[in-house]
Amino acid sequence: MLLAHEGANVTLYERHGQLGGRSSAIEGETEAGAFRFDTGPTFFLYPQILRDIFTRCGLRMEDTITLKKLDENYDLVFENGPSLKVTSDIDVLEREIARIDLQDAGRVRDFMVDNRAKFRNFIPVLQRPFNSVLDLLRTDMLRAFPKLRPLASVDRDLSRYFRDPRTRLAFSFQSKYLGMSPYRCPSLFTILSFMEHEFGIYHPVGGTMAVMEAMGQAAQQLGVKIRLNTPVREILTRKGRATGVLTDQRSEQADAVIINADFGRAMTKLVPDRKRRRWKNRSIERKKYSCSTFMMYLGIEGSVPDKGHHTIFLSESYDRNFAEIEAGKMLSEEASLYIQNVCVTDPHQAPAGHSTLYVLMPVGHLRDGGVDWTDETRAQARSLVMARLEKAGFTDIEERIRFEKIITPADWEERYDVHKGAVFNLAHNLGQMLHRRPHNRFEDIRGVYLAGGGTHPGSGLPVIFEGARISSDLVIRDLASRRRFAFFNRRSRKGATHVTS
Ligand SMILES: Cc1cc2nc3c(=O)[nH]c(=O)nc-3n(C[C@H](O)[C@H](O)[C@H](O)COP(=O)(O)OP(=O)(O)OC[C@H]3O[C@@H](n4cnc5c(N)ncnc54)[C@H](O)[C@@H]3O)c2cc1C
Repeated sequence: MLLAHEGANVTLYERHGQLGGRSSAIEGETEAGAFRFDTGPTFFLYPQILRDIFTRCGLRMEDTITLKKLDENYDLVFENGPSLKVTSDIDVLEREIARIDLQDAGRVRDFMVDNRAKFRNFIPVLQRPFNSVLDLLRTDMLRAFPKLRPLASVDRDLSRYFRDPRTRLAFSFQSKYLGMSPYRCPSLFTILSFMEHEFGIYHPVGGTMAVMEAMGQAAQQLGVKIRLNTPVREILTRKGRATGVLTDQRSEQADAVIINADFGRAMTKLVPDRKRRRWKNRSIERKKYSCSTFMMYLGIEGSVPDKGHHTIFLSESYDRNFAEIEAGKMLSEEASLYIQNVCVTDPHQAPAGHSTLYVLMPVGHLRDGGVDWTDETRAQARSLVMARLEKAGFTDIEERIRFEKIITPADWEERYDVHKGAVFNLAHNLGQMLHRRPHNRFEDIRGVYLAGGGTHPGSGLPVIFEGARISSDLVIRDLASRRRFAFFNRRSRKGATHVTS
């Protein structure tokens, strides 16, 4: 959208028959009618960035996307109690936290005030590229640094406010959005829970796919050519510069190539190892990766009216559960779950008299010596989810299932092209953030730019939109300066703004 709006000639190649990737929809036809599920993202946070992108393109996001702000953010169910109703109203939040610990409730406002300042300081850093270590020395970074507490984890930082581990979990389970444990995730990310309480959680009517469809239409309206069912097989280069892409049909020339495919997967499949300097297969292999997920998409007869839109069920042994996920050697019996019961907000996602449940169980990513996702492991994981669903208060579900689909880490890798099935991409430890994450202007091949969770600022939709904006601005700037250079040399190059994504 951004590139086409600036006048670039953009072609988008998508391997699948629909746009969206991890944000696409799963549809299930049954005798009763069609069920529709979000494949991945269900928490739509901080829509300001997407709204700004539409505005910059001369469009109004609200014309094609309906976002419903949820009255209640989520039900937070601790395995052995209590169950909290979390809203963005701080008075209510204090009251709910008081059910865990009165003293902790008294610190909620301090947490919000401190994180508001941290968020304000850090946001400029997330809005610009990090092309080298020198970018760490810019004033915005120096201003943000004192608030960073780089050696502390999210959990440790929270212990400055909250003494009960369950309160800390209520403000730190969000590190799972990055596929990380709160005991290892850098303290910067306390801003995730802050953002939920400060700005609320949205549901796009029609599911997250409705946002992708609206963006696809907007892109086409701005002149982007979309080629579905067209996998890119190779990024073409000459003398260290990208010259286009190879598809099954032909090779396409371009002045810039933007890779939005999963970073590890795209590099190892689309760019020969010898053409990369920093990001060799060996170094990609050695990186730390986020966790993966075992997913169940259930179309059920009847509804689950006593449950909210989002339920977070937190295991009594959350730390051990996460240690087992990180080790990735076996399925953790003490699994935590996230459940979306979308029909309480958006009943059209299921046929009349039915509803859907989306169940996510975090599991380890694929690795040597890790869980082997055979049919037997799948069945074992399914039984585990069913048992944990009962524990979370979702009783009598199994006999009402009329549609069911499962996605395992192996499916994420094979069908969704996610390297190691690590759905939240490279981990977000400090050693893999900022200039140490693959750069937006890709450092190994001139003319290649990255978008998506594998580049700066990182994974999660709002952050990915921000990263796309950073990369688009770099492309526009670089192509403009190449054009000026060409003009200077009196050799205006034909098609100099042709961009392939
Ligand atoms: C289960 C789950 C739950 C999540 N929950 C949330 C949430 O609640 N909120 C949130 O903000 N984020 C959430 N996320 C994270 C979010 O989904 C991801 O960060 C984001 O969708 C990743 O987007 P991406 O553009 O990086 O990659 P993708 O969505 O994977 O997009 C890459 C695209 O490239 C295409 N592609 C790959 N290879 C090729 C090729 N060779 N040729 C052509 N096309 C190709 C793919 O088909 C795909 O369409 C969740 C993720 C998962 C999996």
